[in-house]
Amino acid sequence: MSGMDIYFPDYYNKFRCLAGSCPDTCCAKWQIVIDDRTLARYDKVEEPFRTRLKNSIDHKEKVYHQINDRCAFLNEEGLCDIHSDIGPEYLCRTCRVYPRHIEEFENVREKSLALSCPEVARLLLSHNGKVTYLHKENDRSETYEEFDNLLYGILCDIRSLMVDIIQKRELDISTRFAMVLSLAHDVSRRLVDNNLFDIENVAEKYRNISIGKFEAEMKRRIGGRKPPYMGGGSRSRRQREKYYNGMNTETAIRLLESLDYFEVLNDYWPDMIEDCIEELEDNGASARTDINTMEGIRNERENERFDIMMEQIAIYFIYIYYVGGVYDGRTLNKLKAAIYSTLIIAIFIKTKWLESRRLVLNRCVEYAYKYSREIEHSDENLELIEELMKKYSTMDMVAFVYEILGR
Ligand code: SF4
Repeated sequence: MSGMDIYFPDYYNKFRCLAGSCPDTCCAKWQIVIDDRTLARYDKVEEPFRTRLKNSIDHKEKVYHQINDRCAFLNEEGLCDIHSDIGPEYLCRTCRVYPRHIEEFENVREKSLALSCPEVARLLLSHNGKVTYLHKENDRSETYEEFDNLLYGILCDIRSLMVDIIQKRELDISTRFAMVLSLAHDVSRRLVDNNLFDIENVAEKYRNISIGKFEAEMKRRIGGRKPPYMGGGSRSRRQREKYYNGMNTETAIRLLESLDYFEVLNDYWPDMIEDCIEELEDNGASARTDINTMEGIRNERENERFDIMMEQIAIYFIYIYYVGGVYDGRTLNKLKAAIYSTLIIAIFIKTKWLESRRLVLNRCVEYAYKYSREIEHSDENLELIEELMKKYSTMDMVAFVYEILGR
């Protein structure tokens, strides 16, 4: 019997918790569920901390009490009293593990770091190199009932190809995203037709694709919705004014409004969306001036930084979610959801970038982790995002990509 394969991104071991200096600690606002093993250990803790544990835990719900939206053990310095008074071995599993995240497949563990942690978001968004996935093994092995190893292997190969495409920095970022959407669409059709053996032909086609032909095909298929910078001035002046720094403000607002669909987890979230929409509406009105000076607003170094951020965020979402389609077959919706999430973060970042005329890393980090907290920490929202994706065809998504990322 073979052992267990463990995969993780190359920045995984660089993570260090910011503890007291975290701008938005995970010990605030979240109800942290305590595993039974840790609860049993708390019974053996000596006084006086034992009484504090007893009084600060909701034993029925198995969660730590919160005082003013903060964990009862989070002290004024932003540090954890359990960690400092009785030791890190008494932290519950969630606190020990977060922000580390594991996707489980038969004899495989895919590790990642949750973007909802500000320090992880900073690590990811300041990572200039192309992310690689490292591998190690251990001796453990397991058997899952009804696990489809063949499909899992195929989806892993397709995901690797998607990562390769998204990392082709010589191509426009919009074209890279359009290409993975198109690839996911073609693979999904083979899955629906139960034609697994043709998927390698699909992959081969995308490995050798002619970029010029692919872009021309995309332009033809998204037709009237193509952004002005793709069409060589075929749009009227009035149509062009809807575009701001290569971003169609109407589409950006429409996509932000689609966030109303989701469960709200954090009080700041609705205001964040509203502020961004207001900013876009104001900018839309003054777009004529800025369109004319567009090149002045965007300097090449910042454009390059922005594209690398989009690359890292898209790969983050694709890596975690795409292969999960082995369990439910919804691979295309998962891929569309990964691109949708990246575009929403792009809208927040671009809007702030336009306002301040500078691409500020801390602001980018803030938008990325806050989006992740809102969506990735709710099973309901993760389900809803896939439901929402059923409303958008693959070509709708391609059009959104060009309308938001522009160029
Ligand atoms: S959110 Fe991240 S950096 Fe902040 S306290 Fe939690 S694990 Fe540490």
